[in-house]
Amino acid sequence: MRDNTLFSLAGKRALVTGASRGIGLALARGLGQYGAKIVLNGRTREPLEAARMVLDGDGIEAVTARFDVTDQDAVIAGVEAIERDHGPIDILINNAGIQRRAPLEQFSRKDWDALIATNLNAVFFVGQAVAQHMLPRKQGKIVNICSVQSELARPGIAPYTATKGAVKNLTKGMATDWARHGLQVNGLAPGYFQTEMNENLVADKDFTKWLCQRTPAGRWGRVDELVGAAVFLSSEASSFVNGHILMVDGGLTSSV
Ligand code: NDP
Repeated sequence: MRDNTLFSLAGKRALVTGASRGIGLALARGLGQYGAKIVLNGRTREPLEAARMVLDGDGIEAVTARFDVTDQDAVIAGVEAIERDHGPIDILINNAGIQRRAPLEQFSRKDWDALIATNLNAVFFVGQAVAQHMLPRKQGKIVNICSVQSELARPGIAPYTATKGAVKNLTKGMATDWARHGLQVNGLAPGYFQTEMNENLVADKDFTKWLCQRTPAGRWGRVDELVGAAVFLSSEASSFVNGHILMVDGGLTSSV
């Protein structure tokens, strides 16, 4: 008889940053379907409330926590408020992220700073704030959303690639510092998914043609296909997995 509680998230509370749409919303919904109570983070009230209604429609217990993950004071206060008002955060999905595209020689300082702030600093800010609550409890799961761009470059997105490479190594560093204290930190690296972030790529037929040729699975990913990996990394099933980056990319980074 298989232990069917291995992947269960019943009784756990998960904070998902950037959960108002796209990958964050899909992961929040997926974790909720495996029993977790969800805290949805984002900056904008209406889409966040709409996301909560989606989960509510699925019978998933969810609340919203609106704060900007690039603002360390707001992050600390936001995490404190969740722990105080709703209870312990058992799982953190560090998902909020942005993209900016331009040839590197024309890349603006403003866009560089925005990428570092959202894609890298915020992973540290939210990870540290949540870990400070998890460490005394000697348990907790953190999943940092990396990217195929943690491994591979593409034209026009060098700074994004730099942030995602850094998140990969920050994940290994967090895992190394905190594993002895009962925390598990891992990365989930999506390939290409049709979210708002990739609107211009979706509209570009040449890109889709390139992607389908380049990806062994021969297609874009669907956001619900990220759920299994996130549930695995958030559940007892991954109890001895630390500092691992799980690629969910249709084989893209495994082939030339
Ligand atoms: P979307 O642009 O669709 O969603 C981004 C989410 O992040 C929104 O909910 C947005 O809400 C939130 N967000 C952005 N900035 C902040 C902030 N400062 N504070 C709080 N929330 C913020 O992106 P995706 O769903 O496509 O991407 C999610 C993650 O997955 C990102 O880290 C991305 O780099 C990564 N990824 C995506 C891939 C893809 O193919 N789509 C591939 C590989 C990795 P709001 O703006 O309202 O705050």
